[in-house]
Amino acid sequence: MNYPAYFDYNATTPVDPAVLEVMLPYFSMHFGNAASRTHVFGSKAEEAVANARKQLARLLDADPKEIVFTSGATESINLALKGVWEANRHRGNHLITVSTEHKAVLDTCDHLAQLGAEVTFLPPDQEGLITAEQVEAAIRPDTLLVSVMLANNETGVLQPVQAIGEVAHKHGVLFHTDATQAVGKLPISWANSPIDLLSLSGHKFYGPKGVGALLARKTVALTAQQDGGRHERGRRSGTLNVPGIVGLGEAARLAHLHLPSEKDHIAALRDKLEAGILSQLPQTSVNGSRQYRLPNTTNIAFAGVDGELLLLSLNEIAVSNGSACTSATTLPSHVLKAMRLSDDLAYSSVRFSLGRFTTEEEVDTAIRHVARVVNQLS
Ligand SMILES: *Cc1c(COP(=O)(O)O)cnc(C)c1O
Repeated sequence: MNYPAYFDYNATTPVDPAVLEVMLPYFSMHFGNAASRTHVFGSKAEEAVANARKQLARLLDADPKEIVFTSGATESINLALKGVWEANRHRGNHLITVSTEHKAVLDTCDHLAQLGAEVTFLPPDQEGLITAEQVEAAIRPDTLLVSVMLANNETGVLQPVQAIGEVAHKHGVLFHTDATQAVGKLPISWANSPIDLLSLSGHKFYGPKGVGALLARKTVALTAQQDGGRHERGRRSGTLNVPGIVGLGEAARLAHLHLPSEKDHIAALRDKLEAGILSQLPQTSVNGSRQYRLPNTTNIAFAGVDGELLLLSLNEIAVSNGSACTSATTLPSHVLKAMRLSDDLAYSSVRFSLGRFTTEEEVDTAIRHVARVVNQLS
C-alpha cells in the first residue's frame, strides 16, 4: 500500500529516531524502578529520570522541581483543574475557560460542574481569539482558576496568555494553560511567565505516546488525583514510565536544539501550502487568526464542498477536520462552531498540520491533489 503524505502532526507526531534510540535500553538493560533506592538498577533509572527532568526544564526555562510527569496532557489537565478545585474549595468555586478549548479541558470542567463547581465558558471572536479584558470581566470574588490554551489544536490560533495570566494574578486567581500544541513549536519561558500550571504531552513533539507533564509552581495547592506511593513530590503516584520519560526528555532536548530554525522552515512550507491552495481555489478561506497562529497549522474552509465527500476523496494526504464522531452521528467541530462558522462550512473545513519531516515535495503533492479533488467535487 502507498501511504498518504502526512499532514496531521497536530493529532500526533512520529517518534524521532533519535528519541527511540535513547529509550530502548530503558526497556530491558536499565529496567529498574526509579523509586528503588537500594541497588544500581534503581539508581540508573532514577538518574535517567532526573536527566529527562532537566532536559524538559531547559526547553521551558523551568525549575525541574516543578515538573510532574504524567501519562499525557489529558491527565495533566485533569490534575490541574480537579487538583486546584479540590484543594482550594474553601476559597471559591468558580472557574473560567474558553469554548474553543480541547475536550480534555471542556469535559473536565463539565465534570467539575456536575460536582457543584460554577464554570464560565468565554466565547471567542470570529478569529478564535479572546482578550484579557474578557477574562477580567468574568473574574468574580470566588474565582479560583482561569484555564486558557496557548495554541489551539484545530486552528493553531494563539491566545494572549501573557496578558491573561497577568490579569488573573492581579485578582489573585490561578492561571493554567494547555500548552500541548505550543511546546516545541514556539519558545516558552516558564520562569518569566504569569502561568501557575502548564500541561504538555510527549507525542505532540516527537516523543512517545502515553507520557506528558504538568508544570506546577511549588506554591500552588494541588490535590493529587491518584493515591499511592507519593511519587512526584506527592502530586502524582504511580511507578514512573522510565522509557517514556527518557523519550520525553530527549524530545525536549531536540526541540530546544532545532526550534529556532525548524519554526521558520515549517512556517515557510505551511505558507506555501496555504498560498497554493487559496490561489487555485477561489472559494476557499482560512479559519482563525493568521496573525496569531502556530507556524505549522492552517485550517481551510472549502465553501460549497461536501465535507464528508471531501475527506473521503483526499486519499493522497492524511488530514483531519476536527468534527467529532459519536455513535449515531458526526458533529461539526466545536472550535469552528464557537467561531460562528455555519455547520456546512465547519464540515467543509480541513486542518493541515505540518512538522519536522514534511518535505517540499509533499507540499507540492498536497496542493495539486487538493485542487484536483475540490474541482471535481464542486
Ligand atoms: C493532543 C492534545 C491534548 C491531549 O493530549 P494527550 O497527551 O493525547 O492526552 C490536549 N490538548 C491539546 C491542545 C492537544 O492538542
